[in-house]
Amino acid sequence: MNNHDLMQDDLAVLWHPCSQMKDYEQLPPIPIRRGDGVWLEDYDGKYYIDAISSWWVNLFGHANPRINTAITKQLGLLEHVLLAGFSHEPAIRLAERLVHLSPPGLTRCFYADNGSSAVEVALKMSYHYWRNAGQTQKNKFITLTNSYHGETLGALAVGNVPLYKEIYAPLLMETLTVTSPDCFYREPGESCADYSQRLFPLMERMLEQHCQTVCAVIVEPLVQCAGSMRMHDPVYLSLLRAACDKYHVHLIADEVAVGFGRTGTMFACEQAGITPDFLCLAKGLTGGYLPLSAVLTTSTVYQAFYDDYTKLSAFLHSHSYTGNALACSAALATLDIFSQDNVIIQNQTLAKRMHTSTLHFNDHPHVAEVRQCGMILAIEMVKDKKTREPFAWQERRGRQVYRYALEKGVLLRPLGNVVYFMPPYVITEEQIQHLADVAWQGIQLATTPT
Ligand SMILES: *Cc1c(COP(=O)(O)O)cnc(C)c1O
Repeated sequence: MNNHDLMQDDLAVLWHPCSQMKDYEQLPPIPIRRGDGVWLEDYDGKYYIDAISSWWVNLFGHANPRINTAITKQLGLLEHVLLAGFSHEPAIRLAERLVHLSPPGLTRCFYADNGSSAVEVALKMSYHYWRNAGQTQKNKFITLTNSYHGETLGALAVGNVPLYKEIYAPLLMETLTVTSPDCFYREPGESCADYSQRLFPLMERMLEQHCQTVCAVIVEPLVQCAGSMRMHDPVYLSLLRAACDKYHVHLIADEVAVGFGRTGTMFACEQAGITPDFLCLAKGLTGGYLPLSAVLTTSTVYQAFYDDYTKLSAFLHSHSYTGNALACSAALATLDIFSQDNVIIQNQTLAKRMHTSTLHFNDHPHVAEVRQCGMILAIEMVKDKKTREPFAWQERRGRQVYRYALEKGVLLRPLGNVVYFMPPYVITEEQIQHLADVAWQGIQLATTPT
């Protein structure tokens, strides 16, 4: 098999996610034969550096020997068993470790099988908690502009990226929306912390006005990833935690994308020193191997569901592959790598290199901002550097960068006009420098008038 034949076969039968299929007439999907560390190899033998961790899931490279070994071992024992009425050691050990690693006060682990369903679980649990607690008037959620929480209808409803949401609006529950503390919009000379703090009264007012009917506020701590890698300061989360307590509203931290070391700490919430009522985890949880998600919550929430069956207060939610044994074993191996290799500390060197290798982008005439949070670095292209007028979306400048980078053997997949690096943690400093060089050339090409 070669690239060409597989591309033809693919286009005859597959419908790809998040794609206008007609785009593939120009640039067909690339069939990947093999993965090895940061590298992906196609059927023509060409290599690509996976600079976006295959959509933010991969942490320790493709075909990681340690994770492979763990899954293979588990495969010989048990692939899957239902988790209602039954259990298995990987699910138990993983829950113990997640409880231990996550912010203090989170003592219960509920599994699902992808990030969107983790968000659905948190929304339903929050609503159901208040109901069990006799607060039947609570049925709304507060969300931030530009947020993203997944594609299922509940998750889409609490998200706010118009490109994904607008079409389906008539199908979605209504939410209360507060302006995001997105530091891209801070005044010149204003710190990110000052800006995030300055925006908080909007949230406070919303809570004050609607707390009687609000179950929870849902946020992506520190980085709105799908929302073009926009960032805010931890101070916003500290203020939000205090306000949620004051107004008796839950706080749902969606760390599906930012968990597991992405922001420089194991979990983003740590940087604000807060414990959410619900912590949603997925993506990196299995090191990028298998679909699995978890929602961690407090004993207060757990206890509100704990009663005689006939009280009908139980959380009767499940997915077929809830807590899959192979996925849990991959997650355990992933957590082993974190502890054995001192990953959070090691990543500081890589994050610094991401910073230094892109410093000169700040002077590029079509770059409005280079922003970074740990192992996420984003470069925002604009038409006019002074006014920050964006390029028209129809021009698809990001796609030009994507195309150029692929030619050069780098998988960058810009979000609109935002080029970003979110590499596996096994990337080297030299490879980061290479990403920066390719991104620079790609941006040059995409922003030069033709
Ligand atoms: C990707 C993502 C989700 C959805 O996860 P899926 O596994 O793709 O369903 C939810 N929240 C955030 C913050 C995400 O980045």
